[in-house]
Amino acid sequence: MTDKTKILLDENELSTTWYNILPDMPEPPEPPLHPGTKEPIGPKELSPLFPIELIKQEVSGDRMVPIPEEVLDIYRLWRPTPLYRAYRLEAALKTPARIYYKYEGTSPAGSHKPNTAVAQAYYNMKEGVSRLATETGAGQWGSALSLATGLFGLKCTVYMVKVSYQQKPYRKSLMHLWGAEVIPSPSNKTNAGRKILAKDPDSPGSLGIAISEAVEDAATHDDTKYALGSVLNHVLMHQTVIGQEARAQLETEDEYPDIVIGSVGGGSNFAGLAFPFIGDKLRGKHDVRAIAVEPTACPSLTGGEFRYDFGDTAELTPLLKMYTLGHEFTPPAIHAGGLRYHGMAPLVSKLHAGKVIEAVALRQTEVFAAAVQFARSEGIVPAPESAHAIKCAIECS
Ligand SMILES: *Cc1c(COP(=O)(O)O)cnc(C)c1O
Repeated sequence: MTDKTKILLDENELSTTWYNILPDMPEPPEPPLHPGTKEPIGPKELSPLFPIELIKQEVSGDRMVPIPEEVLDIYRLWRPTPLYRAYRLEAALKTPARIYYKYEGTSPAGSHKPNTAVAQAYYNMKEGVSRLATETGAGQWGSALSLATGLFGLKCTVYMVKVSYQQKPYRKSLMHLWGAEVIPSPSNKTNAGRKILAKDPDSPGSLGIAISEAVEDAATHDDTKYALGSVLNHVLMHQTVIGQEARAQLETEDEYPDIVIGSVGGGSNFAGLAFPFIGDKLRGKHDVRAIAVEPTACPSLTGGEFRYDFGDTAELTPLLKMYTLGHEFTPPAIHAGGLRYHGMAPLVSKLHAGKVIEAVALRQTEVFAAAVQFARSEGIVPAPESAHAIKCAIECS
C-alpha cells in the first residue's frame, strides 16, 4: 500500500476494449418490443435510428469488443482519468475504510458522457450519416455529443428541455461553440413538440418530450440518426472504460474493492464503473457489492415497477423491460438534473431484479450535506449527481 493520493495509469495502459456484460448475465434481458405491434424488434426496425455497428453492439455476445483506433485517439485527449484515494475525507470521517473515487471530470465536457458520445459519433460517421439528433436535460449529454460530432465532422441537433435552456444559457453556448444547433423543447419543429405546445404553450418540457422530438427528427430525415446518452446496452458498454481503468489502477495498489458505488440516472455511469467488477463477480473471480444510488425524487429502482415501458412521452421509442416510474412521470425539479429519468437501463434493471446489485434512494438535503463535506475535505466540488454516490460511500464507511 503506497500513500499516493492520485493514481494514474500510463497512457499505454489505456483499455483498448470495451467490456460487454451480456455473455456473463445469469439470465439475458428481455428483448425490446416494437411500439406498435408489441413484437420483439430486430436490427431492421432499429436501422432508421442507429447505425448498423451500434445495433450489432446492442445484441453482441462478445465479452470484449475492440475500441477502434480513431476512438482511442480521442479518448487519449483525457484518458486515463485519475483515480484518487480520499485520504482527507477518510480522516474527517475517522473511518478505517479506504475510499477511492474515479474522477471523470477531466473530460472536455466535464463528465463521463463523452466516452460513449465519441464512439457513437465515430460509427455514424463511418456509415455516412451526416447529422445526429439527440435530447438533453441539463446539457451534459448535449454538450458531450456536440463535442464528439464536432471532432468527426458531423452536424448535431440538440433538443434541450426548455426550462434548462432558459436556466442554463451557458450550456447552450458551449454546445454552439462545438458546432451544434440547440432547440428548446417542446418545439414546433416536430409533431411531438407541436402536440404538447397545443395543449400547453408554456410547457417547461421534459426529457421524455425531448427524446420524442429527437427520435422523430431522426426517423423523418434520411441523413440523420439518433443518439442516446444512457440506458441502451451499447451505451453502457462504451462506459466500461471507466471501471476497467479503475480496476487496473487499484491493482497497482494491490487493492480490490469490497463495495462499488455509482449514481444512476439512466444507468450508464453506474454500469461503466461497476460492470467490470460485477463481471468478475458473475464469473466467480471476486465478490463485490455494487450499489446504485438514486434520488428519492426519481426512484426508478427502489420505487418503480419492473415492466415494459416507453423511453419517451410520445410513445415513439421501442418498449424496454425496465424499472420505471411510468413514461408520463415528470420528476420534480431537483438539482441533480442527470438523475431525472423515469426509467432505468434494462441491463441494470435485470441485475437488480436478480439481486446481483443493490439500490438505495437518498434525499437531496442529505446528499448536499455530503457534497459540502467532500468539497471541504477533498477540494473538488462534486456534481449534484455524483454527490449521491459520495453520500452513500460515507454511509458505508
Ligand atoms: C448524466 C450524468 C449522470 C447520470 O448518468 P446515467 O449514465 O444516465 O446514469 C450522473 N452523473 C453525472 C455527472 C452526469 O452528467
